Amino acid sequence: MEQTILVIEDEQNINDILTFSLSKEGYRTISALDGTTGLEMALTENPDLILLDVMLPGLDGWEVCKKVREHSQVPIIMLTAREDEIDKVLGLELGADDYITKPYSMRELAARVKANIRRSTAQQIAQEPEPANQSSIVSGDLTINVERYEVTKNGEIIDITLREFELLRFLATQPDKIYSREKLLENVWGYEYYGDVRTVDVTVRRLREKIEDDPSMPKYIITKRGVGYYFNR
Ligand code: CA
Repeated sequence: MEQTILVIEDEQNINDILTFSLSKEGYRTISALDGTTGLEMALTENPDLILLDVMLPGLDGWEVCKKVREHSQVPIIMLTAREDEIDKVLGLELGADDYITKPYSMRELAARVKANIRRSTAQQIAQEPEPANQSSIVSGDLTINVERYEVTKNGEIIDITLREFELLRFLATQPDKIYSREKLLENVWGYEYYGDVRTVDVTVRRLREKIEDDPSMPKYIITKRGVGYYFNR
């Protein structure tokens, strides 16, 4: 089935290049040149993925991202130009799934788009009930309910993002096995060659703040210095 990508980018020539290249990759593309129109299209056209520029006239990319998230779990890739924008994508819980820094190669962009759509499709399939699958993982005071995408600590539900959940589930499925940050990017984020390993560190940090009694002395997600992370059985 043909997938639709919404490109929200105010620079006409960049918008044209993006839509043209993505059409060549086999996607249907729709585009907006400002945030307000972009938001409207995001909510009415039901795209499979959104490429969202940060600096936009009208509503900026941050606002558009937050507002789309109130209604939809569509994958959003932010197009960032500056280091401080990257920090903001990583640091704030805007609900963006990914970011890509300008200048980017079309090959890289296409790989990211593909990975994010694949992950989102896999998630939708995963939400269908799967018989004979391990439905929850219990460790200490933590319960990871795989079917309901829910984590509880001492019986209380923890507010967790999908990506944090996936990282936790991935690590907890193979306790004590150490994964490098690259391996985690590949398995949890779905990047084959690209991606910034800082993303993993930031997600681990956020996860620890939510599940650990003392995030500076973690009991569950342990850092193996110079190697990566593992889930402590
Ligand atoms: Ca712009």
